[in-house]
Amino acid sequence: MYLPHVAKPVRAAFVVLVRNSELVGMKKAMRQIEDRFNGKFNYPYVFLNDVPFTDEFKAETTAMTKANVTFGEVPQEHWSYPEWINQTYAGECRQQMQEQGVFYALSESYRHMCRFNSGFFFRHPLLDDIDYYWRIEPDVEYSCDIDYDPFLLMQRKGIKYGYTIALHEYPETIPTLWDTAKAFVKSNPGFVRHLAGYSWLSNDGGETYNGCHFWSNFEIGSLAFFRSPEYLAYFDYLDRAGGFFYERWGDAPVHAIAAALMLQKEEVHWFEDIGYYHNPWSNCPLSPESRLRCHCDPTKSAVHHYWASCTQKWLALPDNNTTLLAGVE
Ligand code: GDP
Ligand code: MN
Repeated sequence: MYLPHVAKPVRAAFVVLVRNSELVGMKKAMRQIEDRFNGKFNYPYVFLNDVPFTDEFKAETTAMTKANVTFGEVPQEHWSYPEWINQTYAGECRQQMQEQGVFYALSESYRHMCRFNSGFFFRHPLLDDIDYYWRIEPDVEYSCDIDYDPFLLMQRKGIKYGYTIALHEYPETIPTLWDTAKAFVKSNPGFVRHLAGYSWLSNDGGETYNGCHFWSNFEIGSLAFFRSPEYLAYFDYLDRAGGFFYERWGDAPVHAIAAALMLQKEEVHWFEDIGYYHNPWSNCPLSPESRLRCHCDPTKSAVHHYWASCTQKWLALPDNNTTLLAGVE
């Protein structure tokens, strides 16, 4: 039990990018997080938005918790077109993706959101004193009591990235992401510190991307990982290539490619024990013990499904970094 206004063993916060219109869904998610975990631990919340939060949003979310709550705006340069982007061409690309039936094909704000979550959230001044973040979204569900501090687990064990569900990405949203990442690695070979990561990301020795990624609507992560010069150089390279706007690169595959190649197997943790739902997938622990602290259906857990088999694939990676893959440049 940590007191609301007393310093915690880890400098950590919930980080939430959310719209004013999602207030009710946000309260639902907070209610569950508070009841299942944070009522005992009292980690602060940092809410971010591309427009100012309404007084109503601030008052009603603040009322959901005893913990400290702050509200910030995303700086305009983190939510706008960089000067090297051809906006006319970007509009044509959106139309083309719409004709292919891609989700969010026409949305400009969705692309700004993905770019922000890929390369900027960790630079927000409200996170300056924070070392670990837990990302939440409106309308997610937490279905198990969490009786320990996941931030402390991460800090003690040196875990840099935690997830609940790992899926395959829709290839139409990222046609050139893998080739761009490979081009970056070619000129920055020191970026890759975990060669086995290639066998998680690719089924053909690194030639093509299989789409495996950690579903980033849930993340518990180390901000130092994202703030590292290596990650910043990688993001900058991707950003200049334009795929956040000419395609629809998601922050999940962008994070996952970096995590798989920069981090060791043990530095990435599956929170198997955290019951979680974001439409349409869930994670639900299977152990008999968890039936006593969860209300989810373990037979519906995504980990059983082919589309979410990237979790099993990560767990099957070799435990150390000695296995070199043939055929990887
Ligand atoms: P999906 O999960 O991929 O369908 O995307 P969401 O619509 O859930 O968006 C991901 C997160 O970013 C959610 O927390 C949203 O509230 C937030 N978000 C998405 N678009 C915007 C936006 O234009 N403004 C703000 N402030 N938040 C956004
Ligand atoms: Mn979502």
